[in-house]
Amino acid sequence: MKEIVVISGKGGTGKTSITGAFAGLAKKCVLADCDVDAADLHLLLQPQVRERYEFSGGGRAEIKAEKCLKCGLCRQLCRFDAVRRPADGSSFLTVNSLACEGCGLCAHICPAGAIEFKPVVDGEWYVSDTRMGSMVHACLYPGEGNSGKLVTLVRSRAREIATGNGSDYLLIDGSPGLGCPVIASVAGSDLAVIVTEPTVSGEHDLLRIAGLTKHFRVPTVICINRSDINSAASDRIAAVAEAQGVKVIGRVRYDKAVTEAQIAGKTVNEYTDGPVAGDILAAWQRIINLTEGKE
Ligand code: SF4
Ligand code: SF4
Repeated sequence: MKEIVVISGKGGTGKTSITGAFAGLAKKCVLADCDVDAADLHLLLQPQVRERYEFSGGGRAEIKAEKCLKCGLCRQLCRFDAVRRPADGSSFLTVNSLACEGCGLCAHICPAGAIEFKPVVDGEWYVSDTRMGSMVHACLYPGEGNSGKLVTLVRSRAREIATGNGSDYLLIDGSPGLGCPVIASVAGSDLAVIVTEPTVSGEHDLLRIAGLTKHFRVPTVICINRSDINSAASDRIAAVAEAQGVKVIGRVRYDKAVTEAQIAGKTVNEYTDGPVAGDILAAWQRIINLTEGKE
């Protein structure tokens, strides 16, 4: 079983549309939607939820008034300004649970051991059935942070399912950006496919994410989406990537059928057999060749 993660240095490159299309082309796969901050693969695949679990990534600080010495150290050192004096003028400090990041510093430095942590449910995660195979996905509640723990959980469960049912591929819709969530999506994969676009920010973010995959020694290729909206920029991106040893495995043209497919709740290759579907199929074929060692 091969783990293929589809990532993009930035949002809006079409990563999820391309991941969904790949899922339809892979004969036997399990999907992991690790873009837990803004999960949207479910819009294409309409999963039927089979299992539902709560996710708690940590806790929120709470000051026990009976132990507090009112020294003010926690208020002074909390960099998120979460420790406040109540509006009623009471001398006891309280923690604003919306501002608290659960970093634990206050509990560490409190001389009286007056700060405790109460667990908080940050979101939910699911195991579902889709027409492309099983899918593990999640939803963070508004305002809750993503440390990478939820991504690790989603990916681990998807890997267990893929291994258990003899799937050929675990397809991961990776987190955007460069932080902990994307590292949790990428590390240990067999192949990272960076979906980029021919813009200045696309090129800039591509180089940053390619640096990250190189650091984690994950073989990496790129797919240039909407490549024909600026062919010169696409050529420049291809040259820059190949100079760093990163192959371009596909160029997917702009086609309004991609948006129409999203609106219809279908993958691109389900919606059309036009040229854009051919571009995606060609990219997928190269991915198969690379993971099977044929290139
Ligand atoms: S550091 Fe501890 S003792 Fe000092 S004000 Fe905060 S909770 Fe109270
Ligand atoms: S846990 Fe961190 S963010 Fe929350 S109140 Fe304590 S120091 Fe501030």
